Amino acid sequence: MRLVVDLNRCQGFAQCVFLAPDVFSLHGEEALLFSPRFDEAQRDRVEKAAAACPVQAILVDYSDEPTVEPHVG
Ligand code: SF4
Repeated sequence: MRLVVDLNRCQGFAQCVFLAPDVFSLHGEEALLFSPRFDEAQRDRVEKAAAACPVQAILVDYSDEPTVEPHVG
């Protein structure tokens, strides 16, 4: 699983940091840091964070996961 954050969109609302603090962190006022790779244990939190982002800047890519059907559309 891979995580991409469109930092041009990100407004530093920190919703993701609040929901998945192991994966996202804010450095200073608005520089978002994140781990591009996360493990299964984080999945739920990362998905919640992606859903909660007010500007939909968080994209989760499951394409490297052989057990899951590719997401189409
Ligand atoms: S929730 Fe979205 S806008 Fe807010 S810090 Fe995270 S990625 Fe950026």
